[in-house]
Amino acid sequence: MDLQNIRSQFPILQREINGKPLVYLDNAATSQKPLSVIEVESNYYKELNANVHRGIHTLSQLATEEMENARRKLQKFINAAHDYEVIFTKGTTESINLITYALSNSGTVSEGDEIIITHLEHHSNIVPWQMLCKRTGAKLKVIPIDEEGVLNLDFLRENLSDRTKIVSFNYVSNALGIVNPVQEMISIIRQNSEAWIVVDGAQAVPHFKVDVQALDCDFFAFSGHKMYAPTGTGVLYGKEKILESLEPFHGGGEMIATCSFEKTTYAALPFKFEAGTPNIAGNIALGAAVDFIEGIGHEILQQHENKLLSYAQEKLLAIDNLRIYGENAHRTGVVSFNLQNVGISSDVGMILDKLGIAVRTGHHCTQPIMEYFNIAGTVRASFAVYNTLEEVDILAEGIKKAQRMLS
Ligand code: PMP
Repeated sequence: MDLQNIRSQFPILQREINGKPLVYLDNAATSQKPLSVIEVESNYYKELNANVHRGIHTLSQLATEEMENARRKLQKFINAAHDYEVIFTKGTTESINLITYALSNSGTVSEGDEIIITHLEHHSNIVPWQMLCKRTGAKLKVIPIDEEGVLNLDFLRENLSDRTKIVSFNYVSNALGIVNPVQEMISIIRQNSEAWIVVDGAQAVPHFKVDVQALDCDFFAFSGHKMYAPTGTGVLYGKEKILESLEPFHGGGEMIATCSFEKTTYAALPFKFEAGTPNIAGNIALGAAVDFIEGIGHEILQQHENKLLSYAQEKLLAIDNLRIYGENAHRTGVVSFNLQNVGISSDVGMILDKLGIAVRTGHHCTQPIMEYFNIAGTVRASFAVYNTLEEVDILAEGIKKAQRMLS
């Protein structure tokens, strides 16, 4: 992999922060964008801008073609069986909310039903389910973790029943980088219940190939902005039969077949779930981000990121009093740590920022994980394809400096 070539495609990496070259290690929050993606988005407004799906005029047809072409790229990206199983959303959060409202609007979940999530979830895979439970009287159950952040699959096995309507879990934890045994979880769920399976793939698709048909999940949600695409883009994949059976989330233009005051009928998939004018430029640019990732190749990208992660683990563990959470678990893309002799993660983050190093500190929208470890937050360094081993060295030196300054 030609790392210098890849870095040269990301204009922001040339920036200095506080007089130092930017070391961007906050990729789990959002990745930077390559020129190819930026240009596709801006060219859309320069050359193509028109509303989609409605117009008879040439520009509208071209814009529609481009967006539907992006949908087909995303279909192949996750190996969905049909392009109409790919619904454009504004990100993982909206994708999960779409499912929860579609379920309650359809009466698919009701009082006495059970929904299982895990202790490792992002708030966006907790709160929408709590809200669904509040609306319907269903009950939420949570798969516990151990000291390494590993899920207790016996709990899953023991708690699946006829009442289980949904099991929803992330593929990769954003706070710790732990890769959950998703395939094993899905086979346990299939053997013991009829529950629908939702996978939050926000931290998976930027790092490795996902095949929704091989996984056999019922829904798969992800965000564009963590995989080199613009903010405000994302996808909900759902199996055709299930999507067909559900009521829509939002109502409005684009999602109807016929509308009258007496009766409205809904459009075919995926439009039934895409009310209103979509983020056309963003969705097309999301297709360009797929091209960017596939241009490098998943295997090469993954090899590089694994090298960064194991090098970072080695460098950071050599620092006194540094604890990595989930140190021995199977992880990707993330080291989440604290200096145990230095109380507050944000102090470390502030010193690193002075050195030009961007990391995330705090609870990472996963307060239950922080509660479990009895901490307010962690420092999280997260990697993307353009990061280098030298940047890991700079991070390690920065952490040592922070430790000297704060202790
Ligand atoms: N799930 C996971 C695992 C995440 O990492 C994130 C983003 N941090 C989300 C869900 C929410 O994604 P978004 O804010 O893009 O909707």
